[in-house]
Amino acid sequence: MEVKLVGTGGIFSPLNSACAVINKHILIDIPNGSLKAMRKNGIVINSIDTIFLTHMHGDHYFDIPFLLLEKYKDDKNELKIIGPVDAEEKIKALTELAFPNTAKKIFKSIKIEYIKATEDVKVDHIAVSSLPMNHDNMEAYGYILKDKDMKIGFTGDTALCESVNRILNECSKVVIDSTFEVGTKTHLGVNDILMFLKKYPNTTIIPTHMGKKEKKLLSFQSFDNLLILDDMDDIN
Ligand SMILES: [Zn+2]
Repeated sequence: MEVKLVGTGGIFSPLNSACAVINKHILIDIPNGSLKAMRKNGIVINSIDTIFLTHMHGDHYFDIPFLLLEKYKDDKNELKIIGPVDAEEKIKALTELAFPNTAKKIFKSIKIEYIKATEDVKVDHIAVSSLPMNHDNMEAYGYILKDKDMKIGFTGDTALCESVNRILNECSKVVIDSTFEVGTKTHLGVNDILMFLKKYPNTTIIPTHMGKKEKKLLSFQSFDNLLILDDMDDIN
């Protein structure tokens, strides 16, 4: 499994918004600016055919109308979207807002299969399962991706909850929300990450959704299991 972090930042950060691309065609979230960032780095946008959405906040899915427009233009007409139950309604509304005169044609020509995040999915040889997360009183998911060489988890945005411990316990690598200096009712913080680094010494912890300050604070830490990556770095 090839995993590249397209973005490692939160919304107020100079970093790209948190997003990962797997095997060059599977996305974990499709935030604002993610398509241009990928294009700049040679990723073929039309190859993207599967998107796992963690939740329906704008900095996790607002680039979707641009992917749909490009697929429509190039006659690439298949897309699988796995996510919260309101994903279809929100993606439709956003695309209509973005391209009022083309949205109808886009949805007529592209076959989008919406799958509930609670269903187990297999893409390539990767088995994907979801966990419910605790984020801003909305439907939110973390995902665990498993193939023969790797079991990697993505928490998405979340506060401290049982699923975070489960994902850290089960996976050898976890890309984890590190939005604030101190965790809140909606997001994990650097204090939580430091606690996890000690509690899960065999799990490689990869912070994402970071602010500039949080990234700096984490980069001063020396833990063997802490991996601080930059935008567009690969996880090996
Ligand atoms: Zn969020």
